[in-house]
Amino acid sequence: MTDIQANIDSIRQDFPILETQVYKHPLVYLDNAATTQKPRQVIEKIEEGYRRQNANVHRGVHFLSQMATEAHEDARRCVASFLNSSSEREIIFTRGTTESINLVAFSFGEKFVSEGDEIIVTEMEHHSNIVPWQMLCQRKGAVLKVVPFNDRGELDLQVLSSLLGQRTRLVAVAHVSNTLGTVNPVAEIIRTCHEAGVPVLVDGAQSVPHQTIDVQVLDADFYVFSGHKVYGPTGIGVLYGKEKWLEQMPPYQGGGEMIATVSFEKTTYNELPYKFEAGTPDFIGSTALAEAIRYVQRIGMDNIRRYESDLLQYATRQLMQIDGMRIFGQAGNKESVISMQVGKIHPYDMGTLLDKLGIALRTGHHCAEPVMRHFGIESTLRASFALYNTKAEVDYLVEGIRKVRNLFE
Ligand code: PMP
Repeated sequence: MTDIQANIDSIRQDFPILETQVYKHPLVYLDNAATTQKPRQVIEKIEEGYRRQNANVHRGVHFLSQMATEAHEDARRCVASFLNSSSEREIIFTRGTTESINLVAFSFGEKFVSEGDEIIVTEMEHHSNIVPWQMLCQRKGAVLKVVPFNDRGELDLQVLSSLLGQRTRLVAVAHVSNTLGTVNPVAEIIRTCHEAGVPVLVDGAQSVPHQTIDVQVLDADFYVFSGHKVYGPTGIGVLYGKEKWLEQMPPYQGGGEMIATVSFEKTTYNELPYKFEAGTPDFIGSTALAEAIRYVQRIGMDNIRRYESDLLQYATRQLMQIDGMRIFGQAGNKESVISMQVGKIHPYDMGTLLDKLGIALRTGHHCAEPVMRHFGIESTLRASFALYNTKAEVDYLVEGIRKVRNLFE
């Protein structure tokens, strides 16, 4: 366990990109909800994978293939223990959150959703937790229902309870909103849904990097996340699914790896988790993801949560002192994201000028257009934090926003 505050300099030194100068200013990277930077341990693992361990996994009799297979399966065990899944059979490697959700929407949908059935999502979902369900509903003639949030950015759980019914087949909800920062009470949501006999998929893209996740305590039916948002590489992600669901679901894609036997008359499918992993998996990505997980575990997820929560509160306080500051998302329980507008300055202009000071922020609708519509706006300026950010960087951001605002006035 590492005290982040006391070791912030050496932690920052783990991330080579943080030494970048942007227009002669030190980079202040506050776009972590989009993707996080990588520690050298992860970068070196990728290089080592290609230098010393590169061979296709599974069924290889030769030395390198066995090494690569062992590393890949070790990565699966690492993810299983990170999420506290009861078995690595429940850990499917995908390309990321988006593919994990599409896999469930297709496969669970094929088996369990028919005309007139209902799927429930929330108003604060990322597009990747809306569109796959919409496509499923179109395919099957099912109906998409939506749980709204209030102006603080908190879900209306009474509406959720009232929507759960005989035809509800699944509820899909973000653990943490990428736009509002709201931490949704997913344990409570799952309990409510299970009382109605409805399974729940949790989009963990914005929660896994910031807090300990225990899928068994949560009792989630499906839990998904992306490697690149938790200091791992792009192109690798995870679908956790309860074995009882995955066993019943048909394959998502066909190809190598996912089969037991193939003939032109009949193909039988492989056991879990391989049934859902058609084709050569990203075995370099999986081992690098495991390295990223080991990195955050060494620091300690509880330490990360405490440190980032302090940073978020500090940033919120400082930003609120700026004239004309409006923060979207004021939930009692928030994590790591601040969406804002400053006076009448367009977020795009603000973001572009802050970039000239070396500050990397995201502007736009953050793939959550329904959230923008809720507030009658088109975009926000979003700052999002990671374990390597500091209060000095927050001060620099606040000073930068003040400078830009003065320029406009
Ligand atoms: N859900 C949420 C809440 C997200 O923040 C994101 C990424 N912005 C996604 C899903 C999609 O993740 P990916 O693009 O890595 O598949």
